[in-house]
Amino acid sequence: MDFELSEDQRAFQATARAFARERLLPNAGKWDDERHFPAAELREAAQLGFGGIYVPEEHGGTGLTRLDAALIFEELAYADPSTTGFLTIHNMVAGMISRFGDDEQRARYLPKIIAGDHFVSYCLTEPGSGSDAAALKTRAEAEGENYRINGTKAFISGGGVADLYVTMLRTGDDSSKGISCVVVEDNTPGLSFGLPERKMGWNSQPTAQVQFTDCLVPQSNRLGREGEGFRFAMIGLDGGRINIAACSLGGAQACLDTALAYVKERRAFGRPIADFQAVQFKLADMATELDAARLMVHRAAASLDAKSPDATKHCAMAKRFATDICHRICDEALQLHGGYGYIKDYQVERYLRDLRVHRILEGTNEIMRVIIARKLLEAA
Ligand SMILES: Cc1cc2nc3c(=O)[nH]c(=O)nc-3n(C[C@H](O)[C@H](O)[C@H](O)COP(=O)(O)OP(=O)(O)OC[C@H]3O[C@@H](n4cnc5c(N)ncnc54)[C@H](O)[C@@H]3O)c2cc1C
Repeated sequence: MDFELSEDQRAFQATARAFARERLLPNAGKWDDERHFPAAELREAAQLGFGGIYVPEEHGGTGLTRLDAALIFEELAYADPSTTGFLTIHNMVAGMISRFGDDEQRARYLPKIIAGDHFVSYCLTEPGSGSDAAALKTRAEAEGENYRINGTKAFISGGGVADLYVTMLRTGDDSSKGISCVVVEDNTPGLSFGLPERKMGWNSQPTAQVQFTDCLVPQSNRLGREGEGFRFAMIGLDGGRINIAACSLGGAQACLDTALAYVKERRAFGRPIADFQAVQFKLADMATELDAARLMVHRAAASLDAKSPDATKHCAMAKRFATDICHRICDEALQLHGGYGYIKDYQVERYLRDLRVHRILEGTNEIMRVIIARKLLEAA
């Protein structure tokens, strides 16, 4: 087991860090306040190779591993978990088109996605089905060479600003085998959006309903065969969960660093609060737990890279643990700031709000336990 990063890994980690500190960090608070979607900065990130991080080079991507992607997303999220969260979904969908699309679809979609000229959304959740995603009802009826799509997707990241919507639709029976995965292009007649949701965090990217009303889409936009959509969606999420967990690592590290600086500077009872052992123990636990979370995320990413049969379990475990622990680390950092933690100046509250949703999306942490338990019992 080698815990050292390679020279290459250190190099793109440094690139991501410099970009995050220069282009994201100075603006993240403002984007959060103003609910501004930073399209220009996301395009700049894509120009650095972060628009298709694990799309293979022969498909025009950066050709890095899942572990490499986790390192990059952690650095970016250190500055802005919300904007980075959007980029992780963009990368997840790019990876799905690369892996499950045919040559023509890859040629049609990937160059613009990878360059950041097109943003992509992942549409699985519906108003009546989130955790039980296979119960989705949005229907695609075959009609000549097209599908006629009717139904609504809920909570879609990038809804209304994305250029492509990779959508899970029911083309067959009511089981998970009756679901297909279809690319719906923006401006297709019959495609519309709800108002952006008003949220606790993740404010630099819109979340909205995506609605289909007699929306005609060529069947040639389907990735893979009919009935393969749910499997594709779940495979996409394995990696997506590592990406989200990596965003939690970045946010928690930022809060820990802020807290370390603050406790040395803030005085109470005639001394810096860093002198109190209770404060020191809290910092020690935060750092220890963050390290444990990082090791789990990297192990899960390595599992996925190695196509290990345990990859799904490792991803679910890492997502559950890292997103819970990192949210708690942000909360502890806020506590160490006293009243100043609760106001916006130190930005700890922004990270706490942004990281809260990581425990809910890409499968709630309860669903992660369902997956882990199922894998344990299957193997027993
Ligand atoms: C900001 C944001 C962005 C999102 N982006 C996207 C996106 O881009 N694309 C997309 O498709 N979706 C997206 N989602 C949706 C997200 O994935 C779902 O909200 C999530 O999967 C949970 O579904 P739900 O909200 O319907 O909750 P429900 O499924 O209704 O769950 C409610 C509660 O019941 C619990 N629960 C349900 N079933 C079980 C069980 N079997 N055992 C134990 N507990 C259970 C859940 O854990 C949860 O605590 C986003 C959500 C948010 C908030």
